[in-house]
Amino acid sequence: MVSTEKSQHASKDTQTEIKLNIIERQKHHISRQDISDNALKVLYRLHNAGYDAFLVGGGVRDLLLDKQPKDFDIATNATPEQIKHLFRNCRLIGRRFRLAHIMFGRDIIEVATFRGHHQEPAKNVSAQSDEGMLLRDNVYGSVDEDAERRDFTINAMYYNIADYSIHDYAGGIEDLNSGVIRLIGDPETRYREDPVRMLRAVRFAAKLDMTIAENTAAPIRPLAHLLEDIPAARLFEESLKLLQSGQGLKTYHLLREYDLFSKLFPQVAEEFTEEGHSQTEKVIELALASTDRRINDGKRINPAFMFAALLWYPLEKQARQLMEHRHFSYYDAIMEASNIVLDKQVKSIAIPRRHTATIREIWQLQLRLPRRNGKRASRLMELNKFRAGFDFLEMRGEVEQGDVAELAKWWRTFQNAGRNMRQAMINDLGQSNPGQRRRRNYRNKKKSAQ
Ligand code: ATP
Ligand code: MG
Repeated sequence: MVSTEKSQHASKDTQTEIKLNIIERQKHHISRQDISDNALKVLYRLHNAGYDAFLVGGGVRDLLLDKQPKDFDIATNATPEQIKHLFRNCRLIGRRFRLAHIMFGRDIIEVATFRGHHQEPAKNVSAQSDEGMLLRDNVYGSVDEDAERRDFTINAMYYNIADYSIHDYAGGIEDLNSGVIRLIGDPETRYREDPVRMLRAVRFAAKLDMTIAENTAAPIRPLAHLLEDIPAARLFEESLKLLQSGQGLKTYHLLREYDLFSKLFPQVAEEFTEEGHSQTEKVIELALASTDRRINDGKRINPAFMFAALLWYPLEKQARQLMEHRHFSYYDAIMEASNIVLDKQVKSIAIPRRHTATIREIWQLQLRLPRRNGKRASRLMELNKFRAGFDFLEMRGEVEQGDVAELAKWWRTFQNAGRNMRQAMINDLGQSNPGQRRRRNYRNKKKSAQ
């Protein structure tokens, strides 16, 4: 529980920070043309029905930064039931806090009723866990209370559809201009209420190329362990936003700097070194840089690839142990280690089954790609996940060099070759026994890893 002294300190801090500053239409550059038609429709219908209606959060922040917002969120004083009354295409969702989703085909506009303070400090006990985490969050309030409950100053700006002004409650404009990520209120209390805010601080710092304010940054390392209590499903969603949004490499470095990465991927973090040159660290750099490139080129990405890359060397370490202590064959060891490593990983990040299936396929292909004799090579190429498996083999080649790099080169040539050349490449492989080859590869690798 948060001590009374701290709560008083927090509320004093918050009160001093929440001060409304209105920026009139002619003093900012957000135009209605920048806002999606569907969001505008919702804002106007609420307004015309006599309610307050604001565009809020990331939408306002990104428009002020001349960036394309990912989505448009709306806040209002209408209750969910009143919202539902106004829109035929409305669905109410969420038990913890009821939200309205207004559906326009695939486009969904989220409308939230202003949230108030959860409870008076004396009654906080029932709404918070021992660590001060908010368990309930379902009281409606005024717009200024709503602003106070948001995470960062730059996320607490409201665009008012009534007169097109911006309501800045926490000095967000100033922080936006100077590139500062600053929590509203007492940072330690706010992190204890919701430890995911630590991840969000890092995510926005990387994505917006901003600096985390000193007092917002200071409690992160000491409180990083609180992430261990966050449901693994929520951390899966967050991990994608962190690492698969086009700034993954930069975000990864910041997560390490703040001791947060090890809370998301404990087995991966065990491989980290002072110099940053372990195989795991090398492959993470390659995988995240390639994901960032693909996203920024507008290409599709598969989260399974990243997880497969992050966990491959921890997987091999586990497999080596199974071979040494339980005399597994390399193949069986990798298969068994896949179960062990994934079981451990899903405790912190609940990777859904559809992705773990692909991760396993990518790993299994690392065992199958060396076996190219006869018709095997052509058959492998027909597999659904061949491309992902090959891409990963190439990355391993860059990290490990030697046999793996040779093998990756062979596969790249093979794919680009015509029929005759492919046949010649297969013939060149000779009649080497694939089983023996596998074992030899393994021994070589072990030697070079030492
Ligand atoms: P993005 O570009 O990632 O969508 P965003 O700021 O819109 O950024 P969302 O997760 O969509 O982020 O949340 C919308 C808004 O809700 C935020 O801008 C912030 O005001 C508020 N918010 C979201 N998560 C939290 C949280 N954990 N604690 C407090 N406020 C939050
Ligand atoms: Mg958003």
